[in-house]
Order: sequence, then C-alpha cells, then structure tokens
Amino acid sequence: MSDSAPEQPQTRLATDLIHAGRIRSSLDENAEALFLTSGFAYESADQAEAVFANQIQHYQYSRFANPTVAMLENRLARIEGAQACRATATGMAAVHAAVMCGLRAGDRVVASRALFGSCHWIVSTLLPQFGIETVFVDGADMEGWRAALARPTALVLLESPSNPMLEILDLRAISALAHAAGAIVVVDNVFATPLLQKPLELGADVVVYSATKHMDGQGRVLGGAVLGSKQWIEEVFQPFFRNTGPSLSPFNAWVILKGLETLQLRVTAQSKSAEAIATFLETSPEIARVLYPTLHSHPQRELAMSQMSGGGTLVTFEVQGGKEAAFRMLNALRIVTISNNLGDTKSLATHPATTTHMRIGPEERARLGITDGCIRLSVGLEDTEDLIADLAQALLR
Ligand SMILES: *Cc1c(COP(=O)(O)O)cnc(C)c1O
Repeated sequence: MSDSAPEQPQTRLATDLIHAGRIRSSLDENAEALFLTSGFAYESADQAEAVFANQIQHYQYSRFANPTVAMLENRLARIEGAQACRATATGMAAVHAAVMCGLRAGDRVVASRALFGSCHWIVSTLLPQFGIETVFVDGADMEGWRAALARPTALVLLESPSNPMLEILDLRAISALAHAAGAIVVVDNVFATPLLQKPLELGADVVVYSATKHMDGQGRVLGGAVLGSKQWIEEVFQPFFRNTGPSLSPFNAWVILKGLETLQLRVTAQSKSAEAIATFLETSPEIARVLYPTLHSHPQRELAMSQMSGGGTLVTFEVQGGKEAAFRMLNALRIVTISNNLGDTKSLATHPATTTHMRIGPEERARLGITDGCIRLSVGLEDTEDLIADLAQALLR
C-alpha cells in the first residue's frame, strides 16, 4: 500500500522535502492529514475478502500500513533515492527488524566495532542467542575487513561516521568486500543524515535511520526508517515487519513529516555551526583533541570528503584532565544542555564514558578511543557565536 504515491514531477531535494509522497484525501486538505486510526472499514464482506486476497489495494490495519505513515515512507524513499521504505517506531526497531528479518541460525554477521550502544548489543548479545556467529572489525582496519569477509557472510552492519568518535568507514570498499562474501550491507546513516551521505550510491543495500534524531530534529518523538530495494522490502522485510509489529504511530509520522520540511535548512545551518565550533575548540589549550570529519586534523578527512558532502552536526572533543575536567565543563554550560539525544535544534552535550557508552565497559571504550575526557556535542540551531562563548566560559571553569 505504502509504495503507491501518485506520480510526481522530477524535483530537487528542497522541493521533495516539502511535497514528495503526499497523499491527498477526497477533502483536498493542503497540509498532510493525520490519519489517527488503527483500522479501516470495508464496504462489504466481499470487498474485505478481495483486499485480504490482494486483489484490490485498500488499507487494512495500521500495523501493516497507514496513509500518514505512507506519506512519510514515500517522502523518505524519494530523498534517499531508495525504491522503498518502511517507517518504524524507533531507530532501534528499524535496526533490529532490518538485521533480523533475513537471518537464519547458522548465519554469520560482520559488524563495525564502533556501533551505537544498542546496535552493538544486538550484534554481540542478541544474535548469538539465535545461533548466529558475529564478528566485530575495527572500522578503519581494511585488512581486518578483508580477513573477516574472506568467509561467506549473510549481513554486514556498519555506521559511519561512528558514534561518538566520528570514525569514517570506507563504505565503497567494505560494500565490495561484503558483496563478494555474499552479504547484504546495512548502513546506519544517522550521523550523516540523508543530506550528507547516500550509502546506497556507495554500494550499501539497506539504509536505516533513527528519525528521532535530525528528521524530527526538534526533540519531540521517536521514529525510525528502513530503506532498500522494492524486492528486499516487500519479500524479506515486509513479512517480518507486518507480523512482529514495530510500526510507527501515525501521530509520530505526522510530526516527522513536519520535521522533514525544515531538514535541509536545519542540517545545513547546524553543520556550518559545528564546523566553526570544531575549529574554535582546536585553538583552545584546555582541549587535547577535536574530532570533526572535515577538519584538516581528522585522520580520515580525505575519505570523509569522498563520501560525504559535509561534516555533520556532531563534534567530539577531549578535555585535558579526564572525567573531572569534563564534568566541570559540562556542569558549567549555560546554553548547551546535558542530554544524550542528538540532532536536535537545541545543542546537547554528553559524556559518553559514563552515559551512552558506560555499558560497553572500560576495555571496549579504550579500544574505541573513548577516554574519560571525551565529550560529544550535538550542535543545535542557536547562534554560533553564543555557543562558542558558552563553550569558552565553561572551559575556563
Ligand atoms: C539514536 C540512534 C539509534 C537508535 O535510535 P532510537 O530512535 O533511539 O531507537 C541508532 N543508531 C544511531 C547511530 C543513533 O544515533
């Protein structure tokens, strides 16, 4: 049902973010309608029978498809350049469903080590419970990828730039190795957003998002999305999705649709601000290290520039003096909020070692380079100079 948006003219991104995928009801409403309904009515028992037999298209039940959710799915497919999309209740529901739907006991999964905490748990803890072998590779270690993908593999899961150290993975090279091993490549593209990186063009098969982040972008609702070929979505993903029920609420879909209207404006402004803040932080003697993909000091700047059209809205930096100094700085911030969300219009800072990456333990943190002085900053839409002044005064505390 949800792949049946009306034919639309070829338009560019800014236009698509406003109009793509719109479904107008017979009432001709101009804003996207919120179809807050769980079920749909049939004219007759005969019609219901024909709908269930797939002889006619008709909405059945909002766990399978819903018109407001379908508008979001169609719009996301258009801006990603994907054939099909399904929206999910959260980003984790998207990752879980995209990974689990095609796997069988005895399969092998290879993943990058620097994954979002819950994605790491799915690979390290959940999949082995179902007889799936999992292997982690350090993202930038191409020899490691070559070795891990020398054996038949069902699925590769990766994230670039990674959370929180903004490590860049070579999506083209890893996708080629994965395909040679028979794997499908799933990319968590949350940090890059669909504006700054197009994994499908770089060789990936499936892209997953937490729509909670930049797509809503205003800290209101949870949501997620899975994008891929029409065949994979319909034949592999849809049966799992329909029968396990990680569906997105129509209300949240409607909020995210409104968020998409300003996605380009927000991500462009927030990325510009993030780059200015990263450049400022590099000049501060209190800071040991700044990570931002387009900085000349980023060890993988060239790779980042070859697959991304901008550095994104996140900056990670290490304060001299470890946890104590990092906490002192966080507690002295006046504009930036301490929060583990990201991609919001409000600037948010978090201490990964004691929050988002607490559970992975000190050894794994050390492997990933997450020190006790590290702070991850999600740059919002406030005035750049105000943010720099806030960071500067907090550093002097
Ligand atoms: C937030 C996030 C997720 C999970 O999304 P939720 O909407 O919180 O479930 C997955 N991957 C990355 C990279 C994220 O930042």
